Amino acid sequence: MVVLALLAAAAPASADTIVLKNGRRITAFNVVETADKITYQTSAGELTLPKSIVDHVEKGGMVAMPGAPGADAASLAITPPAMAPISGEAEIAQGAVHDGAVDRVYIAKLEGQARTAGSSAEVPAAVAHHAAAMFELSHGDMERALTDERTALTYAPQEPVLLMNVAYLHLRRSEYTQSLDYLERARRVAPDNPDVAKLAGWSYYGMNKMDQAIAEWKRSLALRPDPEVQAALDKALRDKQEEDSYKENESAHFNLKYSGAAEPGLARDVLKTLELHFAAIESELNFTPPDSIGVILYTQQAFADITKAPGWVGALNDGRIRVPVQGLTSMTPELSRVLKHELTHSFVGQKTRGRAPTWIQEGLAQWMEGQRSSQNAAALTQIYAAGHASSLGHLEGSWMGLNSDQAAYAYAWALANIEYIIETDGMADIERVLDRIAAGQPTESALREVLHSDYADVSESTDEFLLKNYVH
Ligand SMILES: [Zn+2]
Repeated sequence: MVVLALLAAAAPASADTIVLKNGRRITAFNVVETADKITYQTSAGELTLPKSIVDHVEKGGMVAMPGAPGADAASLAITPPAMAPISGEAEIAQGAVHDGAVDRVYIAKLEGQARTAGSSAEVPAAVAHHAAAMFELSHGDMERALTDERTALTYAPQEPVLLMNVAYLHLRRSEYTQSLDYLERARRVAPDNPDVAKLAGWSYYGMNKMDQAIAEWKRSLALRPDPEVQAALDKALRDKQEEDSYKENESAHFNLKYSGAAEPGLARDVLKTLELHFAAIESELNFTPPDSIGVILYTQQAFADITKAPGWVGALNDGRIRVPVQGLTSMTPELSRVLKHELTHSFVGQKTRGRAPTWIQEGLAQWMEGQRSSQNAAALTQIYAAGHASSLGHLEGSWMGLNSDQAAYAYAWALANIEYIIETDGMADIERVLDRIAAGQPTESALREVLHSDYADVSESTDEFLLKNYVH
Protein backbone atom coordinates (compact mmCIF):
# COMPACT_ATOMS: atom_id res chain seq x y z
CA MET A 1 0.00 0.00 0.00
CA VAL A 2 1.85 3.01 -1.24
CA VAL A 3 -0.69 5.70 -1.87
CA LEU A 4 -3.73 5.95 0.32
CA ALA A 5 -6.32 8.20 -1.22
CA LEU A 6 -8.14 10.64 0.94
CA LEU A 7 -11.49 9.61 2.23
CA ALA A 8 -14.15 11.71 0.58
CA ALA A 9 -17.64 11.89 2.01
CA ALA A 10 -20.07 9.18 0.89
CA ALA A 11 -18.67 8.06 -2.43
CA PRO A 12 -21.05 6.20 -4.74
CA ALA A 13 -20.77 2.41 -4.65
CA SER A 14 -18.36 1.70 -7.47
CA ALA A 15 -17.00 -1.72 -8.11
CA ASP A 16 -13.63 -2.99 -9.32
CA THR A 17 -12.94 -6.07 -11.39
CA ILE A 18 -10.36 -8.60 -10.24
CA VAL A 19 -8.94 -10.50 -13.21
CA LEU A 20 -7.42 -13.86 -12.32
CA LYS A 21 -4.54 -15.49 -14.17
CA ASN A 22 -6.97 -18.14 -15.42
CA GLY A 23 -9.00 -15.37 -17.08
CA ARG A 24 -11.85 -15.36 -14.64
CA ARG A 25 -13.30 -11.92 -13.76
CA ILE A 26 -14.76 -11.12 -10.36
CA THR A 27 -16.80 -8.01 -9.59
CA ALA A 28 -15.68 -6.79 -6.20
CA PHE A 29 -16.10 -3.93 -3.78
CA ASN A 30 -13.41 -2.40 -1.60
CA VAL A 31 -10.52 -4.21 -3.24
CA VAL A 32 -7.49 -3.89 -0.97
CA GLU A 33 -4.08 -5.10 -2.12
CA THR A 34 -1.31 -5.97 0.30
CA ALA A 35 2.02 -7.61 -0.35
CA ASP A 36 0.68 -11.16 -0.55
CA LYS A 37 -3.08 -10.98 -0.78
CA ILE A 38 -6.13 -9.17 -2.07
CA THR A 39 -9.13 -8.59 0.15
CA TYR A 40 -12.53 -7.55 -1.15
CA GLN A 41 -16.18 -7.37 -0.20
CA THR A 42 -19.01 -9.29 -1.81
CA SER A 43 -22.65 -9.35 -0.86
CA ALA A 44 -21.81 -12.49 1.09
CA GLY A 45 -19.03 -10.92 3.14
CA GLU A 46 -15.30 -10.38 3.05
CA LEU A 47 -13.12 -12.56 0.84
CA THR A 48 -9.36 -12.93 0.54
CA LEU A 49 -7.37 -14.15 -2.46
CA PRO A 50 -3.67 -14.96 -2.62
CA LYS A 51 -1.95 -12.51 -4.94
CA SER A 52 -0.28 -15.36 -6.77
CA ILE A 53 -3.50 -16.22 -8.62
CA VAL A 54 -4.40 -12.61 -9.53
CA ASP A 55 -3.33 -11.08 -12.83
CA HIS A 56 -4.52 -7.52 -12.30
CA VAL A 57 -7.29 -5.36 -10.89
CA GLU A 58 -9.39 -3.04 -13.07
CA LYS A 59 -10.61 -0.05 -11.13
CA GLY A 60 -13.94 1.69 -11.18
CA GLY A 61 -17.22 1.23 -12.96
CA MET A 62 -20.64 1.52 -11.41
CA VAL A 63 -22.20 -1.88 -11.00
CA ALA A 64 -25.43 -2.96 -9.41
CA MET A 65 -24.97 -5.28 -6.49
CA PRO A 66 -25.25 -8.88 -7.61
CA GLY A 67 -28.48 -10.53 -6.60
CA ALA A 68 -26.70 -13.12 -4.50
CA PRO A 69 -28.27 -13.48 -1.09
CA GLY A 70 -26.61 -11.40 1.55
CA ALA A 71 -25.57 -13.91 4.11
CA ASP A 72 -23.99 -10.89 5.67
CA ALA A 73 -27.20 -9.03 6.41
CA ALA A 74 -25.30 -5.80 6.96
CA SER A 75 -24.66 -5.62 3.22
CA LEU A 76 -28.03 -6.82 2.00
CA ALA A 77 -28.76 -5.85 -1.56
CA ILE A 78 -32.49 -5.79 -0.92
CA THR A 79 -34.52 -2.62 -0.86
CA PRO A 80 -36.85 -1.80 2.00
CA PRO A 81 -40.53 -2.28 1.11
CA ALA A 82 -42.19 0.86 -0.26
CA MET A 83 -45.22 2.50 1.31
CA ALA A 84 -48.59 2.43 -0.43
CA PRO A 85 -49.51 5.91 -1.69
CA ILE A 86 -51.37 8.07 0.82
CA SER A 87 -52.96 11.35 -0.20
CA GLY A 88 -50.68 14.25 0.66
CA GLU A 89 -47.76 11.88 1.32
CA ALA A 90 -45.38 13.67 -1.03
CA GLU A 91 -45.95 17.04 0.66
CA ILE A 92 -45.48 15.54 4.12
CA ALA A 93 -42.26 13.78 3.08
CA GLN A 94 -41.08 17.02 1.50
CA GLY A 95 -41.84 18.88 4.73
CA ALA A 96 -40.06 16.30 6.88
CA VAL A 97 -36.88 16.11 4.79
CA HIS A 98 -35.62 19.03 2.76
CA ASP A 99 -32.36 20.82 2.00
CA GLY A 100 -30.40 17.70 2.90
CA ALA A 101 -31.66 17.46 6.46
CA VAL A 102 -34.54 16.24 8.60
CA ASP A 103 -36.85 19.08 9.71
CA ARG A 104 -37.50 18.17 13.35
CA VAL A 105 -39.60 21.30 13.93
CA TYR A 106 -42.00 20.29 11.17
CA ILE A 107 -42.25 16.74 12.51
CA ALA A 108 -42.88 18.00 16.04
CA LYS A 109 -45.72 20.15 14.68
CA LEU A 110 -47.38 17.09 13.08
CA GLU A 111 -46.94 15.17 16.33
CA GLY A 112 -48.64 18.01 18.21
CA GLN A 113 -51.55 17.83 15.78
CA ALA A 114 -51.75 14.07 16.26
CA ARG A 115 -52.02 14.56 20.02
CA THR A 116 -54.79 17.17 19.83
CA ALA A 117 -56.76 16.10 16.76
CA GLY A 118 -56.61 12.39 17.52
CA SER A 119 -56.48 9.43 15.18
CA SER A 120 -57.24 11.32 11.94
CA ALA A 121 -54.01 13.30 12.33
CA GLU A 122 -51.84 10.33 13.25
CA VAL A 123 -51.09 9.14 9.72
CA PRO A 124 -49.22 12.33 8.71
CA ALA A 125 -46.98 12.00 11.82
CA ALA A 126 -46.26 8.38 10.86
CA VAL A 127 -45.47 9.36 7.25
CA ALA A 128 -43.12 12.14 8.41
CA HIS A 129 -41.17 9.84 10.74
CA HIS A 130 -41.03 7.19 8.00
CA ALA A 131 -39.63 9.76 5.56
CA ALA A 132 -37.02 10.77 8.15
CA ALA A 133 -36.11 7.10 8.68
CA MET A 134 -35.60 6.52 4.94
CA PHE A 135 -33.41 9.63 4.73
CA GLU A 136 -31.26 8.43 7.66
CA LEU A 137 -31.03 4.94 6.20
CA SER A 138 -29.77 6.39 2.92
CA HIS A 139 -27.05 8.15 4.95
CA GLY A 140 -26.07 4.97 6.77
CA ASP A 141 -27.39 6.12 10.15
CA MET A 142 -29.10 2.87 11.11
CA GLU A 143 -29.56 3.86 14.76
CA ARG A 144 -31.58 7.02 14.02
CA ALA A 145 -33.45 5.33 11.16
CA LEU A 146 -34.61 2.63 13.57
CA THR A 147 -35.67 5.18 16.19
CA ASP A 148 -37.72 7.15 13.63
CA GLU A 149 -39.30 4.05 12.11
CA ARG A 150 -40.27 2.77 15.56
CA THR A 151 -41.80 6.18 16.36
CA ALA A 152 -43.70 6.10 13.05
CA LEU A 153 -45.11 2.75 14.17
CA THR A 154 -46.52 4.25 17.38
CA TYR A 155 -48.75 6.45 15.18
CA ALA A 156 -49.75 3.65 12.80
CA PRO A 157 -49.20 0.36 14.65
CA GLN A 158 -51.09 -1.74 12.10
CA GLU A 159 -49.27 -0.44 9.00
CA PRO A 160 -47.54 -3.47 7.45
CA VAL A 161 -44.95 -1.39 5.59
CA LEU A 162 -43.79 0.27 8.82
CA LEU A 163 -43.64 -3.12 10.56
CA MET A 164 -41.63 -4.51 7.65
CA ASN A 165 -39.29 -1.54 7.62
CA VAL A 166 -38.54 -1.91 11.33
CA ALA A 167 -37.91 -5.61 10.62
CA TYR A 168 -35.68 -4.67 7.67
CA LEU A 169 -33.59 -2.31 9.83
CA HIS A 170 -33.13 -5.01 12.48
CA LEU A 171 -32.09 -7.37 9.70
CA ARG A 172 -29.49 -4.86 8.51
CA ARG A 173 -28.14 -4.82 12.06
CA SER A 174 -28.01 -8.66 12.16
CA GLU A 175 -30.71 -8.66 14.85
CA TYR A 176 -32.60 -11.60 13.43
CA THR A 177 -34.85 -12.43 16.38
CA GLN A 178 -36.15 -8.87 16.68
CA SER A 179 -36.62 -8.79 12.92
CA LEU A 180 -38.80 -11.91 13.07
CA ASP A 181 -40.89 -10.44 15.91
CA TYR A 182 -41.92 -7.52 13.72
CA LEU A 183 -42.46 -9.75 10.70
CA GLU A 184 -44.86 -11.90 12.76
CA ARG A 185 -46.84 -8.75 13.57
CA ALA A 186 -46.82 -7.75 9.89
CA ARG A 187 -48.01 -11.22 8.92
CA ARG A 188 -51.02 -10.93 11.21
CA VAL A 189 -52.23 -7.81 9.35
CA ALA A 190 -51.00 -8.77 5.87
CA PRO A 191 -50.83 -12.57 5.69
CA ASP A 192 -50.33 -12.65 1.91
CA ASN A 193 -47.68 -9.96 1.55
CA PRO A 194 -44.72 -11.49 -0.34
CA ASP A 195 -42.27 -9.04 1.28
CA VAL A 196 -43.02 -10.45 4.73
CA ALA A 197 -41.97 -13.93 3.60
CA LYS A 198 -38.99 -12.50 1.69
CA LEU A 199 -37.61 -10.72 4.76
CA ALA A 200 -38.43 -13.66 7.05
CA GLY A 201 -36.38 -15.87 4.71
CA TRP A 202 -33.40 -13.59 5.18
CA SER A 203 -33.83 -13.56 8.95
CA TYR A 204 -33.84 -17.35 9.11
CA TYR A 205 -30.90 -17.48 6.72
CA GLY A 206 -28.97 -15.17 9.03
CA MET A 207 -29.76 -17.51 11.92
CA ASN A 208 -28.50 -20.47 9.83
CA LYS A 209 -31.97 -21.99 9.86
CA MET A 210 -31.76 -23.10 6.28
CA ASP A 211 -34.96 -25.17 6.08
CA GLN A 212 -37.11 -22.32 7.38
CA ALA A 213 -35.38 -19.82 5.08
CA ILE A 214 -36.12 -22.04 2.08
CA ALA A 215 -39.77 -22.42 3.11
CA GLU A 216 -40.24 -18.64 3.47
CA TRP A 217 -38.64 -17.86 0.12
CA LYS A 218 -40.76 -20.49 -1.63
CA ARG A 219 -43.82 -18.93 -0.05
CA SER A 220 -42.75 -15.46 -1.19
CA LEU A 221 -42.19 -16.65 -4.76
CA ALA A 222 -45.60 -18.33 -4.84
CA LEU A 223 -47.15 -14.96 -4.01
CA ARG A 224 -45.04 -12.90 -6.45
CA PRO A 225 -42.07 -13.63 -8.74
CA ASP A 226 -38.97 -11.77 -7.55
CA PRO A 227 -35.45 -12.26 -8.97
CA GLU A 228 -33.82 -11.34 -5.63
CA VAL A 229 -35.78 -14.04 -3.84
CA GLN A 230 -35.19 -16.56 -6.64
CA ALA A 231 -31.42 -16.00 -6.44
CA ALA A 232 -31.50 -16.31 -2.66
CA LEU A 233 -33.52 -19.52 -2.83
CA ASP A 234 -31.24 -21.02 -5.48
CA LYS A 235 -28.20 -20.34 -3.34
CA ALA A 236 -29.80 -21.71 -0.18
CA LEU A 237 -30.76 -24.90 -2.03
CA ARG A 238 -27.20 -25.24 -3.41
CA ASP A 239 -25.78 -24.70 0.09
CA LYS A 240 -28.07 -27.29 1.56
CA GLN A 241 -27.49 -29.92 -1.09
CA GLU A 242 -23.74 -29.45 -0.89
CA GLU A 243 -23.64 -29.53 2.89
CA ASP A 244 -25.93 -32.55 3.17
CA SER A 245 -23.22 -34.58 1.44
CA TYR A 246 -20.50 -33.35 3.77
CA LYS A 247 -18.74 -35.23 6.49
CA GLU A 248 -18.79 -33.80 9.97
CA ASN A 249 -16.16 -33.42 12.64
CA GLU A 250 -16.62 -31.84 16.01
CA SER A 251 -14.30 -30.40 18.59
CA ALA A 252 -15.04 -28.63 21.85
CA HIS A 253 -16.08 -25.34 20.23
CA PHE A 254 -16.48 -26.09 16.55
CA ASN A 255 -18.69 -27.99 14.24
CA LEU A 256 -16.70 -28.65 11.08
CA LYS A 257 -18.13 -29.84 7.79
CA TYR A 258 -16.07 -30.82 4.78
CA SER A 259 -16.58 -32.60 1.52
CA GLY A 260 -15.13 -36.03 0.98
CA ALA A 261 -12.57 -34.57 -1.40
CA ALA A 262 -10.86 -32.60 1.38
CA GLU A 263 -8.04 -34.37 3.14
CA PRO A 264 -9.22 -35.80 6.49
CA GLY A 265 -5.81 -34.91 7.90
CA LEU A 266 -6.35 -31.30 6.90
CA ALA A 267 -9.76 -31.26 8.58
CA ARG A 268 -8.14 -32.43 11.82
CA ASP A 269 -5.39 -29.81 11.43
CA VAL A 270 -7.96 -27.07 10.90
CA LEU A 271 -9.86 -28.05 14.04
CA LYS A 272 -6.66 -28.23 16.07
CA THR A 273 -5.54 -24.81 14.82
CA LEU A 274 -8.98 -23.30 15.43
CA GLU A 275 -9.00 -24.63 19.00
CA LEU A 276 -5.57 -23.05 19.62
CA HIS A 277 -6.76 -19.73 18.19
CA PHE A 278 -9.99 -20.08 20.17
CA ALA A 279 -8.07 -20.40 23.43
CA ALA A 280 -5.86 -17.41 22.54
CA ILE A 281 -8.75 -15.11 21.58
CA GLU A 282 -10.85 -16.35 24.50
CA SER A 283 -8.21 -15.27 26.99
CA GLU A 284 -7.48 -12.00 25.13
CA LEU A 285 -11.14 -10.97 25.10
CA ASN A 286 -12.08 -12.77 28.34
CA PHE A 287 -15.15 -14.13 26.59
CA THR A 288 -16.41 -17.55 25.54
CA PRO A 289 -18.90 -17.61 22.66
CA PRO A 290 -21.98 -19.43 23.94
CA ASP A 291 -22.80 -21.15 20.65
CA SER A 292 -20.56 -23.62 18.87
CA ILE A 293 -19.06 -22.07 15.74
CA GLY A 294 -19.80 -23.58 12.36
CA VAL A 295 -16.87 -24.04 9.98
CA ILE A 296 -17.13 -25.31 6.42
CA LEU A 297 -14.14 -26.44 4.39
CA TYR A 298 -14.74 -26.31 0.65
CA THR A 299 -12.94 -27.92 -2.17
CA GLN A 300 -12.33 -25.42 -4.94
CA GLN A 301 -15.26 -26.33 -7.15
CA ALA A 302 -17.71 -26.39 -4.29
CA PHE A 303 -16.59 -22.98 -3.10
CA ALA A 304 -16.93 -21.48 -6.56
CA ASP A 305 -20.38 -23.05 -6.96
CA ILE A 306 -21.68 -21.87 -3.63
CA THR A 307 -20.13 -18.45 -3.24
CA LYS A 308 -19.62 -17.63 -6.92
CA ALA A 309 -16.10 -16.74 -5.88
CA PRO A 310 -12.88 -18.49 -6.86
CA GLY A 311 -11.31 -21.02 -4.62
CA TRP A 312 -8.10 -21.64 -2.72
CA VAL A 313 -7.25 -19.56 0.29
CA GLY A 314 -10.05 -17.10 0.57
CA ALA A 315 -12.45 -17.21 3.41
CA LEU A 316 -15.52 -15.51 4.60
CA ASN A 317 -17.53 -15.29 7.75
CA ASP A 318 -21.28 -15.00 7.41
CA GLY A 319 -22.03 -16.48 10.80
CA ARG A 320 -20.21 -19.62 9.78
CA ILE A 321 -16.54 -19.57 8.81
CA ARG A 322 -16.21 -20.72 5.19
CA VAL A 323 -12.75 -21.71 4.05
CA PRO A 324 -11.73 -22.97 0.62
CA VAL A 325 -8.88 -25.45 0.97
CA GLN A 326 -8.28 -26.80 -2.51
CA GLY A 327 -4.81 -28.19 -2.95
CA LEU A 328 -3.93 -27.99 0.73
CA THR A 329 -3.02 -31.16 2.56
CA SER A 330 -1.84 -29.60 5.80
CA MET A 331 -1.91 -26.36 7.72
CA THR A 332 0.04 -23.39 6.31
CA PRO A 333 0.88 -20.13 8.11
CA GLU A 334 -1.35 -18.23 5.68
CA LEU A 335 -4.35 -20.49 6.29
CA SER A 336 -3.75 -20.24 10.03
CA ARG A 337 -3.80 -16.41 9.83
CA VAL A 338 -7.00 -16.46 7.78
CA LEU A 339 -8.65 -18.75 10.35
CA LYS A 340 -7.66 -16.48 13.22
CA HIS A 341 -8.94 -13.39 11.39
CA GLU A 342 -12.32 -14.99 10.66
CA LEU A 343 -12.56 -16.50 14.15
CA THR A 344 -12.03 -13.04 15.66
CA HIS A 345 -15.06 -11.83 13.68
CA SER A 346 -17.09 -14.68 15.20
CA PHE A 347 -15.98 -13.79 18.74
CA VAL A 348 -16.63 -10.06 18.34
CA GLY A 349 -19.95 -10.73 16.63
CA GLN A 350 -21.17 -13.01 19.41
CA LYS A 351 -19.75 -10.87 22.21
CA THR A 352 -21.47 -7.70 20.93
CA ARG A 353 -24.60 -9.42 19.56
CA GLY A 354 -23.69 -8.18 16.11
CA ARG A 355 -23.44 -4.56 17.23
CA ALA A 356 -19.68 -3.95 16.86
CA PRO A 357 -18.86 -1.21 14.34
CA THR A 358 -16.90 -2.24 11.27
CA TRP A 359 -13.74 -0.37 12.30
CA ILE A 360 -13.51 -2.36 15.55
CA GLN A 361 -14.33 -5.67 13.79
CA GLU A 362 -11.71 -5.22 11.07
CA GLY A 363 -9.14 -3.50 13.30
CA LEU A 364 -9.28 -6.25 15.88
CA ALA A 365 -9.36 -9.12 13.34
CA GLN A 366 -6.22 -7.74 11.68
CA TRP A 367 -4.52 -7.24 15.04
CA MET A 368 -5.35 -10.79 16.19
CA GLU A 369 -3.98 -12.32 12.99
CA GLY A 370 -0.70 -10.53 13.74
CA GLN A 371 -0.78 -7.45 11.50
CA ARG A 372 0.72 -4.20 12.76
CA SER A 373 0.86 -0.65 11.35
CA SER A 374 4.55 -0.38 10.47
CA GLN A 375 4.09 -0.32 6.67
CA ASN A 376 1.19 2.12 6.64
CA ALA A 377 2.27 4.47 9.43
CA ALA A 378 3.98 7.04 7.19
CA ALA A 379 1.02 7.39 4.83
CA LEU A 380 -1.50 7.44 7.68
CA THR A 381 0.33 10.22 9.54
CA GLN A 382 0.62 12.28 6.34
CA ILE A 383 -3.12 12.03 5.80
CA TYR A 384 -3.69 12.97 9.43
CA ALA A 385 -1.35 15.96 9.22
CA ALA A 386 -3.19 17.17 6.11
CA GLY A 387 -6.43 17.14 8.10
CA HIS A 388 -7.96 14.40 5.96
CA ALA A 389 -8.09 11.57 8.47
CA SER A 390 -11.40 9.76 8.46
CA SER A 391 -13.55 10.09 11.54
CA LEU A 392 -14.08 6.71 13.19
CA GLY A 393 -17.77 7.57 13.22
CA HIS A 394 -17.74 7.35 9.43
CA LEU A 395 -16.20 3.88 9.62
CA GLU A 396 -18.86 2.41 11.93
CA GLY A 397 -21.28 1.15 9.29
CA SER A 398 -20.84 -1.01 6.23
CA TRP A 399 -17.79 -0.30 4.07
CA MET A 400 -19.59 -1.41 0.92
CA GLY A 401 -19.87 2.18 -0.34
CA LEU A 402 -16.13 2.85 -0.18
CA ASN A 403 -13.99 2.64 -3.29
CA SER A 404 -10.87 0.52 -3.13
CA ASP A 405 -8.48 3.30 -2.09
CA GLN A 406 -10.85 4.43 0.61
CA ALA A 407 -11.25 0.84 1.77
CA ALA A 408 -7.46 0.31 1.92
CA TYR A 409 -7.26 3.42 4.04
CA ALA A 410 -10.17 2.25 6.23
CA TYR A 411 -8.53 -1.12 6.98
CA ALA A 412 -5.18 0.52 7.76
CA TRP A 413 -6.66 3.30 9.89
CA ALA A 414 -8.91 0.86 11.80
CA LEU A 415 -5.90 -1.33 12.59
CA ALA A 416 -3.85 1.69 13.71
CA ASN A 417 -6.52 2.92 16.13
CA ILE A 418 -7.04 -0.56 17.60
CA GLU A 419 -3.27 -1.06 17.87
CA TYR A 420 -2.91 2.26 19.70
CA ILE A 421 -5.70 1.40 22.17
CA ILE A 422 -4.31 -2.08 22.89
CA GLU A 423 -0.70 -0.88 23.26
CA THR A 424 -1.68 2.02 25.51
CA ASP A 425 -4.64 0.84 27.54
CA GLY A 426 -4.49 -2.91 27.17
CA MET A 427 -6.93 -5.50 25.86
CA ALA A 428 -8.99 -5.25 29.05
CA ASP A 429 -10.20 -1.84 27.89
CA ILE A 430 -11.18 -3.20 24.48
CA GLU A 431 -13.13 -5.85 26.37
CA ARG A 432 -14.92 -3.21 28.44
CA VAL A 433 -15.74 -1.22 25.28
CA LEU A 434 -17.18 -4.34 23.63
CA ASP A 435 -19.32 -5.06 26.72
CA ARG A 436 -20.86 -1.60 26.54
CA ILE A 437 -21.50 -1.93 22.82
CA ALA A 438 -23.21 -5.28 23.53
CA ALA A 439 -25.49 -3.47 25.98
CA GLY A 440 -26.57 -1.12 23.22
CA GLN A 441 -24.34 1.86 23.99
CA PRO A 442 -23.05 3.82 20.96
CA THR A 443 -19.35 3.12 20.38
CA GLU A 444 -18.09 6.66 20.91
CA SER A 445 -19.85 6.99 24.25
CA ALA A 446 -18.41 3.59 25.25
CA LEU A 447 -14.92 4.92 24.41
CA ARG A 448 -15.61 8.05 26.43
CA GLU A 449 -16.55 6.02 29.49
CA VAL A 450 -13.74 3.48 29.27
CA LEU A 451 -10.86 5.50 27.79
CA HIS A 452 -12.07 9.00 28.71
CA SER A 453 -11.54 9.89 25.06
CA ASP A 454 -13.91 10.67 22.23
CA TYR A 455 -13.27 9.67 18.60
CA ALA A 456 -11.22 12.80 17.88
CA ASP A 457 -9.01 12.20 20.97
CA VAL A 458 -8.42 8.54 20.06
CA SER A 459 -7.44 9.43 16.49
CA GLU A 460 -5.12 12.21 17.62
CA SER A 461 -3.41 9.82 20.05
CA THR A 462 -3.22 7.18 17.31
CA ASP A 463 -1.40 9.67 15.09
CA GLU A 464 1.08 10.43 17.90
CA PHE A 465 1.51 6.70 18.54
CA LEU A 466 2.32 6.04 14.86
CA LEU A 467 4.80 8.93 14.70
CA LYS A 468 6.57 7.83 17.87
CA ASN A 469 6.79 4.13 17.08
CA TYR A 470 7.08 3.83 13.32
CA VAL A 471 7.90 7.12 11.58
CA HIS A 472 11.48 8.29 11.79
ZN1 LIG B 1 -12.29 -9.13 8.16
